[in-house]
Amino acid sequence: MRATPKSGLGLRSAPAGSFDLLIGGKLQSAEQGATFAAHDPYLEEDWGQIAKASPADVDRAVASARSAFEDGRWSGMLAAERARIMLRLADLIERDAESLTTQQIFENGKLISEMRPGTLGLAGDCRFFAGLAETHGGATVQSARPGFTTFTLKEPIGVVGAITPWNTPLGLLGWKLFPALAAGNTIVVKPSEVTPTSTLMLAALCEEAGIPGGVVNVVTGGRETGAALVEHPDVSKIAFTGSTATGQQIASRAALRSARVTLEMGGKSPQVIFADADLDQAVNGVMAGIFAATGQSCMAGSRVLVEEPVFDRFCEILAARGSAMIAGDPLDPASQLGPLASRAQLDKVLAYFEIARAEGLDCVTGGHRLDRQGYFVAPTVYRDVPQGSRIAREEIFGPVVVVMHFNGEDEAVRIANDSRYGLAAGIWTEDLRRAHRLVHRIRAGTVWVNNYRIIGHTLPFGGYGASGIGREMGRDALEAYSETKSVWIDLGNRIEFRTGHGEEQGAV
Ligand code: NAD
Repeated sequence: MRATPKSGLGLRSAPAGSFDLLIGGKLQSAEQGATFAAHDPYLEEDWGQIAKASPADVDRAVASARSAFEDGRWSGMLAAERARIMLRLADLIERDAESLTTQQIFENGKLISEMRPGTLGLAGDCRFFAGLAETHGGATVQSARPGFTTFTLKEPIGVVGAITPWNTPLGLLGWKLFPALAAGNTIVVKPSEVTPTSTLMLAALCEEAGIPGGVVNVVTGGRETGAALVEHPDVSKIAFTGSTATGQQIASRAALRSARVTLEMGGKSPQVIFADADLDQAVNGVMAGIFAATGQSCMAGSRVLVEEPVFDRFCEILAARGSAMIAGDPLDPASQLGPLASRAQLDKVLAYFEIARAEGLDCVTGGHRLDRQGYFVAPTVYRDVPQGSRIAREEIFGPVVVVMHFNGEDEAVRIANDSRYGLAAGIWTEDLRRAHRLVHRIRAGTVWVNNYRIIGHTLPFGGYGASGIGREMGRDALEAYSETKSVWIDLGNRIEFRTGHGEEQGAV
């Protein structure tokens, strides 16, 4: 039962039911009818049954995607036609934005004020890649040898296995699905076991838009289902978003069979606040960086470095603002803090509170679970945290921020770069030259100056170091879903075979 209009807003309606796998355009139950439960982190109750795909189910899904790829029902279609269908898909996403939004909220408890714009953004992402489909191609290049015309072709890679996390289920799927489709690939999606049903809804819209059956397949399940996809010899590329530990494991398995990989992984991103910054703006930016999405954001600004003269004032304001946040029903637009997405994530964050206590760290606010329904923890600020502390080095994925102080640019850069991650960074200063210097010196895939956590499909997103391999979004994302073929057309040279043929031209 989940028809619980707790806020009196009448917002909750039950999406209860069972959800099957999508294979070859048909909904199918898993082998031997295996299922697992869908769970609402706000109500703390199960609300549906999801098919749990076995390796044999994964095999059927990959076979379906492979045959859809080989017979050219999608890759052989004119790029303009693929684009037209993708534009229709974008319209359908907008039509169903409200139900796609609420479905994700039932799964992971993210606030409606965050999820709704994210879902609408998905339509924009889809249109962006639809627009690129027709112009994506190779180039005619000057031949380096006489008597040849040379050019490159861009070809789809084959079957893409997309493995996604739970924090922004459809947004992060779109970053993979849309470029993969625009480039002519077929796909098998393995959504997070925490958020599988919204992916099935999006896949249904793909079919309604006119994407042929078998091009987009969905296998739901957990680690074993994902592992079967990674190991499958007919999956040509794995596109993964999730934790660094899982991503590294996946990359090592995929490497054994030379599958292509892109990895979007974890972060411990620094926000660097200089004494000359607009402090009010900086506090807003830090709140947006760590308390939005209840801190469950890969790009969370979870390490805040503040210049000495404004350190105490900054900590005071941040603690006051954090502790005043209104926790509530994620479906209520007035809520400012949602629950963590699962019991497991709650336990993980609570364990970090214990670690901080054991390390004797100074907790200015928060550091505990909220005494109410749902997997809520209080917005939490630790100050004067030593760089070596575990909470300063490890990704917590909750509304937990460590604040450290520095003096001058060099120290700021040293602390900011002292991390195995390198996903994002924020710089707060009114000094334009200093901002540019820092942009160059901080090692991160995205750097914001006097802002934080802004993204859009025209710019690539991805990480340095343990935060990832490759980039998603932006024009270049299509490259990650394409092979490049080089072509030499002989214009009439006479071939005489002799030892050393080609070697003098650099053949290897
Ligand atoms: P996770 O690594 O636990 O799981 C991610 C996905 O991988 C899930 O679908 C899971 O079922 C699957 N999986 C787990 N083990 C697997 C295995 N051995 N083989 C194949 N698949 C496997 O991550 P999560 O808890 O779902 O998500 C949170 C993490 O995602 C955080 O670390 C966060 O930083 C990261 N993230 C990164 C980005 C980014 O763009 N860099 C964006 C969002 C989230």
